[in-house]
Amino acid sequence: MRPGSPQTTQQGFLNRISLTSWIFIALIAGTLLGTLCNLVLPQDSSLFTAGINGFCFVIGRGFIRLMQMLVVPLVFTSIVCGAAAMGSGSMLGRVGGMTMILYTFTTFVAISLALALGLLINPGVGLDLGSITKIEVSAAKAVPIADTLLNIIPANVVNAMATGTMLQIIVAALILGYIIGALGDKVGTVGQFFKEFNEIMMRMVQFVLTFAPLGVFCLITHTFANAGLSALLPLAKFVGGTYIGLALQLILVYGSLLILFARMSPVRFFRKMLPVMGFAFSTSSSNATIPLNVETLERKIGVSPRVTGFTIPLGATINMDGTAIMQGVAVIFASQAFGVDLGLSGYLTVILTATMASIGTAGIPGAGTIMLTVVFSSVNLPVEGVSMLMGVDRLVDMGRTAVNVTGDAVVTTCVAKVNGLLDRKIFDSEGEDLAASEKHGIELAEEVGRPDEKLL
Ligand code: ASP
Repeated sequence: MRPGSPQTTQQGFLNRISLTSWIFIALIAGTLLGTLCNLVLPQDSSLFTAGINGFCFVIGRGFIRLMQMLVVPLVFTSIVCGAAAMGSGSMLGRVGGMTMILYTFTTFVAISLALALGLLINPGVGLDLGSITKIEVSAAKAVPIADTLLNIIPANVVNAMATGTMLQIIVAALILGYIIGALGDKVGTVGQFFKEFNEIMMRMVQFVLTFAPLGVFCLITHTFANAGLSALLPLAKFVGGTYIGLALQLILVYGSLLILFARMSPVRFFRKMLPVMGFAFSTSSSNATIPLNVETLERKIGVSPRVTGFTIPLGATINMDGTAIMQGVAVIFASQAFGVDLGLSGYLTVILTATMASIGTAGIPGAGTIMLTVVFSSVNLPVEGVSMLMGVDRLVDMGRTAVNVTGDAVVTTCVAKVNGLLDRKIFDSEGEDLAASEKHGIELAEEVGRPDEKLL
């Protein structure tokens, strides 16, 4: 769902509330039933074989396959559309360029931080998913760093799609989207095709997610029936570790950016942003939070409306620092639970994939988890790990979405300040003077002797 369709965003969000409750119910019911089966059913009994390793396994795996089915077309069209929007008009100017650099930089830092944190708290230690899912897991082969870098460039796009080589798909999509944007009306039909195809993909995500409660129930039942309560602590560590990472990103990364670039008090900034973060937390949707984020930045922080109108919808589409943190901790969780040693080149691949996957993650509930399969596949981690984490996904989605939208706001504020498009008086005052901020945008444009659009 693109930011340009607020109605569909709101509808998706409303529908998702009850779906969320169902997923929670499925999680609890699956945990209880699975634990009960683990305690009372002998693992070699025919009921265990048919019910747990038969029915639950097939339904759970089927759900995972449905999610995997979406990934390649979803990422490809989403990135083509995002890059096309960037290339059109004069978006790649001063403000656009700096925004892109900061968005990429913050995501890069977020995923690196999360990997380090994961290695510190060892969320997957104590959980043996390799034996539960009966998957052949061998240590990831050490790939030289030169090959890792070269593997980003697709020699054959069709092959990249057929084999689901995500980094290559992302690179091809970025180039295609950029060219479509640059050619503009000359290739309007193709641009429109991708926009419409993207809408279709968003609807398919919603469709597949309606099966999430059943999928989660079967997967969690299967896991707990086989592993017993030993699965609980690692999951709690995953949720806790992700929240620690999110807090560090807020305090260390965003705090430093605000002090360095915007010369602002982070405490005051975050206090003014609290309602936005609360809204994102409760909706788990960056897209749904766009209007409130824009309004708060203009009325309380003092950013020119011309900047927010471009950077916030863009950020909600391509900048997902919180999601990257979840993905970093999840990678460590799965690599430990499956006993896979990723090695330095594995971590490098994860950093690159997650940073680029962030561009392809839609700002809607649960999208980050679907993209997690991309990150796992990039280092040959079994996607069963994703399904385990789906059970607790909503808990993590709330926090990561709050960080996603805050990241957009921080970068927007820094870019506005550096380009003289921020009214400090509004930030320093307690008032919410929208008129002042609108006037401010016009004044600044006059001051620099050109309309704001040209800056973008
Ligand atoms: N829910 C997140 C967002 O809207 C995306 C995700 O699932 O990570 O920003």
